[in-house]
Amino acid sequence: MRIEIAKISEEGDKYEGEEPREVLELEKDKFIDPSGSIHYDLFVQRVSDQLVVKGILQVKFYLLCSRCAEFFSTTVVDSSFLRAYKLEEGTEVVDVTRDMREAVLLKIPPYPVCSAECHGLCRQCGMNLNKGICSCVPPEGPSPWDDLNRLKI
Ligand SMILES: [Zn+2]
Ligand SMILES: [Zn+2]
Repeated sequence: MRIEIAKISEEGDKYEGEEPREVLELEKDKFIDPSGSIHYDLFVQRVSDQLVVKGILQVKFYLLCSRCAEFFSTTVVDSSFLRAYKLEEGTEVVDVTRDMREAVLLKIPPYPVCSAECHGLCRQCGMNLNKGICSCVPPEGPSPWDDLNRLKI
């Protein structure tokens, strides 16, 4: 989003609109797939020699669930986007696009889950336990992983 400094009114202006999802530059990512454009709802104001931009960013994503490995749809929101740009003599346009991109990417959860109740995959057969129950029986006796599991605690 490009803001033309000369067009901003004294009391500040609202900027609402969309940036194409391409500005996120995530097209080849296997785990994160933006499914919509960046929706911005921002307030822009000149404060002495600075341009202050604040508001809300929202993007719809398909994320890969870290438990069941299925894609699910979610909205990533930055409800407190805030940036200040120093206006040098002669600044005509401030481009906020890169900062919007960065803000949205930082809000993507590192271990997304499709729902708090997601049952994940069976550790033995790999079945998605949200879709049914497999017939695996938990192994009896010590497993070679037990020592390792204890270490993690
Ligand atoms: Zn899941
Ligand atoms: Zn199983």
